Amino acid sequence: MKQYTYVLNDDFSIEDVARNIREKLHENPGATSVLQVIESSGTEEIIKYGYEKASEWFPDMIIYGMTSQGSILNGMNDVTINYNGKGICSLLLFDNSTVIANGYDCHEKTTLECGQDFVKLLDGRKDVKGVLIMSSDTTLFSDDFANAILEVYPNIPIFGAMAGTQDITNDRSMVYFDQKIYYRGIVAVAFCGDDLHIEAKHSLGWRPLGKEFTITKSSKDGLVKEIDGKPAIEIYKEYLGVSENKFFYDNSAAFPILFLQNDELVGRVALYCINGAVKYTMPIPEGTRASFAYARKKYLLSESLKGANELIEFNPQAILIYSCVTRRNFMGDLLADREFLYYKNVCANCAFTGGYGEFLYSDIGAGLLNGTLIAIGFREGDAALSGVTPYVDKDLEPTDETEAIPLMERMINLLEKTTDDLRVNVLQLSYTASHDELTGIYNRATFNELYNELLKKKDSDFTSGLFLIDIDHFKKVNDTYGHDIGDLVLKKIVKYISEILPENSYLCRWGGEEFVCIIENVNKQEAMAFAENLRRQIESSDFLPVPKVTASIGVTIVNGTNKSHKDVFKKVDEALYEAKETGRNKVVYKM
Ligand code: GH3
Ligand code: MG
Ligand code: MG
Repeated sequence: MKQYTYVLNDDFSIEDVARNIREKLHENPGATSVLQVIESSGTEEIIKYGYEKASEWFPDMIIYGMTSQGSILNGMNDVTINYNGKGICSLLLFDNSTVIANGYDCHEKTTLECGQDFVKLLDGRKDVKGVLIMSSDTTLFSDDFANAILEVYPNIPIFGAMAGTQDITNDRSMVYFDQKIYYRGIVAVAFCGDDLHIEAKHSLGWRPLGKEFTITKSSKDGLVKEIDGKPAIEIYKEYLGVSENKFFYDNSAAFPILFLQNDELVGRVALYCINGAVKYTMPIPEGTRASFAYARKKYLLSESLKGANELIEFNPQAILIYSCVTRRNFMGDLLADREFLYYKNVCANCAFTGGYGEFLYSDIGAGLLNGTLIAIGFREGDAALSGVTPYVDKDLEPTDETEAIPLMERMINLLEKTTDDLRVNVLQLSYTASHDELTGIYNRATFNELYNELLKKKDSDFTSGLFLIDIDHFKKVNDTYGHDIGDLVLKKIVKYISEILPENSYLCRWGGEEFVCIIENVNKQEAMAFAENLRRQIESSDFLPVPKVTASIGVTIVNGTNKSHKDVFKKVDEALYEAKETGRNKVVYKM
């Protein structure tokens, strides 16, 4: 396959692009041709005009694209050419592959329904190697669309970008396919072929800075209303000194927030602020622990350089890059262009697209991303040796100091190191505060938290088993063998209980020689069977030098009607009391 990329500007018109494309089509007869067009001014007329012309000139060509934020295009392509970019066209010519594309209006249908429609269009074919999606409207989220595809094609990468617009607060972004323009829609392009290979890379480079916050109130449209129980803007004000005004985006864009999603660190850029709430490109679930992020330019570049050089081995014949507006805003045109050069080194005609967000659903991506750069390599046939040598960026290598370090650099150093130290301390403290020192299991405070969490997430028809376990005559163990042996018995009993605990259960030290345990989703019979098994297990286990240890167990069931903490614990306490009163080494159930 081949790729050719053209920049539209005052000196290079749509007609000029067409002339070049015609030449390439002539040189590659029979190729499947796909044209990605990124339009930077957000002008419907330009897109319509382009389509009108293209349908005359290239009736068989698949043409899709999106609008991008204008500033992103300035100086973006070849650093040696000074131009006023209006758009970027990238032509992909495939020798042996099939490309299936469609556009979806999401006004009437949900993104899930649209995704399912697209899957139908793919008609069960086995050679789908990757799907590109572009979406417009920052309140339209791609997850459901992507998930519909992943349901049938779980192992392919889904990649692309969210369209941009000149004015973030008045989203007029567009995606387009086959002469249709969608202000709220998704365009999807499936690349298929037994001979086709697609490799995705993504690089983030931002690092968490300062303390962690909790998202306490958020909604499905991507608004975060409260952070740490306060209006979200208050956190921006207190920590960044940023207010709700027209500079909000410019002032906060260098500080995306970072959090873990499916074990991947993801960034979210705040787009705008409205009535104290902050709008992000994706809904952020309540309870998410996030922190502000900061990047040194060299962090962003180093990760990108690594990704680009790693692609050399794949030997791509084409590369499509989707990168976040934030990166360019933050790095500035010069460095962003340098970043682009890393990829041009791998594939000279690669194409760059700036968006509000990047999509990468794959084993290395976490869905919608922000602040990242994703690069998608395409190749038909086997990877021959490319002969490309890895790009070396001398500026990223440590140098001998020839002058004083700028104040800003030293400040960031101080902040980063302090952040690292504080995070280690916080982790240690929170471990100590939530765990029992002797046995290492959760303590009572954590149990109470977990119990409340359990009740919150359950609907009314759940049942869980609650167990209170108390060692019989433990005082005698201490009196006879000493406190140290007593401690050893406590540790061993925790080990034995842990060994037979099923999944979805928590064990905590309630105090002294009493332990409390919850097993989710069990009924009375199952709870009793577990308790009886546990009792026998303890009775027959080795506690040497103590010849025999037994325990009494109170059991009750927590469900939607009796879930009050006080009532349930009263019951399980009574059950344990009865077990003790009626001979010990017993299981008693109370409801
Ligand atoms: P019962 O069968 O009625 O439960 O009798 P018991 O002796 O087990 O009950 P009691 O509550 O009278 O005694 C509990 C003992 O557990 C008293 C206390 O010294 C001991 N204990 C509590 N915490 C620890 C600990 O961390 N280590 C050790 N070695 N002993 C502990
Ligand atoms: Mg006791
Ligand atoms: Mg006891």
